[in-house]
Amino acid sequence: MRPGFSAFRLLLAICCLLALVLNPQFGIAQDSVQQTPAPETAAPATPQTPQAAKDPADSPVLVFDGAIQGDGKATRFTMDFDRKTEFDSFFMDSPLRLVIDGPSMLFRFADAATLEPRGLVTFLRYGAIARERSRVVISLGHPARMVSRKTETIEEGKHYRLEVELEPVKQGEFTKMVAEQQRLVGTSGEVATIGDRVRPAPKEKGRITIVIDPGHGGIDGGAKGVHGTQEKDLTLQIARRLASEIGKRGAFDTRLTRSEDVFISLRERVAFSERNQADLVISIHADSLRQNWVRGATVYTLSRKASDNLAHEIAESENASDLLAGLDDAADDEALPDILADLTLRETTRFSRFFSSILVEKLDSDINLIKNPERSATFAVLKAPEIPSVLIELGYLSNPDDEKLMTDEEWQKAATARIADAVLKFFEPRLR
Ligand SMILES: [Zn+2]
Repeated sequence: MRPGFSAFRLLLAICCLLALVLNPQFGIAQDSVQQTPAPETAAPATPQTPQAAKDPADSPVLVFDGAIQGDGKATRFTMDFDRKTEFDSFFMDSPLRLVIDGPSMLFRFADAATLEPRGLVTFLRYGAIARERSRVVISLGHPARMVSRKTETIEEGKHYRLEVELEPVKQGEFTKMVAEQQRLVGTSGEVATIGDRVRPAPKEKGRITIVIDPGHGGIDGGAKGVHGTQEKDLTLQIARRLASEIGKRGAFDTRLTRSEDVFISLRERVAFSERNQADLVISIHADSLRQNWVRGATVYTLSRKASDNLAHEIAESENASDLLAGLDDAADDEALPDILADLTLRETTRFSRFFSSILVEKLDSDINLIKNPERSATFAVLKAPEIPSVLIELGYLSNPDDEKLMTDEEWQKAATARIADAVLKFFEPRLR
């Protein structure tokens, strides 16, 4: 035996022990229920490599200040950040938007008041759009063009400022500009979302795959409660709990469409379920309604015609997610032809409705339900032709009592346990 070999092994063992002791993340499951949701508008976490030392260049660009100034004739948007950064920008039509894309950014604006929409700007939205990409979407009240776009060095390189000057143009000129820009660079706002890079694990025989889809994420925060709860954080928290509850009930494998605060397009959510050969899709939401007295859990399935006005309204607002994040809906229409007429889908719909009825029955024992809790509308996220899919509004963040309930740990445990019970009952004939 070589001398020094056991000494080397001893050293290796000590190193491993040290790594275990010093690294608090070591050994914690990625989708652990105990994880707190990512903070509002936080850029997604860098890929999980707990052992690797962090290179400061890999951390997100810190955006710490910004302003919207001017009026309808000339509007200026500025954004201050901590290091030299490259941006792309392009305009989009219907709705009118200017999209600014950059690397992963952490948005911590010092004063929200300076970013109040004014002049040509009607709304500002920002956040992660993919793992290493962030986006600012500036909604416009009138067609506009960029007079200038520059990045300046402030205080000799202490920090940097992006400055965009906008002025109004006629709709015709705007339409021409957008068409030209698409011809030159092929921008449609589409970006590779996180799921594109995740290869699904091969499906094991006898196992049932449940895709859990936490609504919204990244740049799309979803609804916001009176007490400040963001829908995207709440849905992720509940999705994690649900995965763990379903996991306790036997032959199920659960997959989350997202496990961090990142934007996923509706089309990608559907594609994710198909790639993973899901047996059931459960999309989790907690939206807002104009009618703030409306409360209680609601289960939605896909239908060509909405069951009622409320269902129609919810589907409209959900389907707008991609547009608000600066994606082109034209591309979506092509990718999702009218599959509603398809026979398979009708068969799938029957299963979706059946699951919905079991779900309502199980929830009813513990959870406050809306009047007529089974509703339907044309939800883009439920359009996987072969996979039974439901969208659950666990409550409505526009109602303060619902908000209080949904953020309560005990309530979350009860709700996710009942959903998991419904999953088990739905698949019981296959498990025997
Ligand atoms: Zn939602």
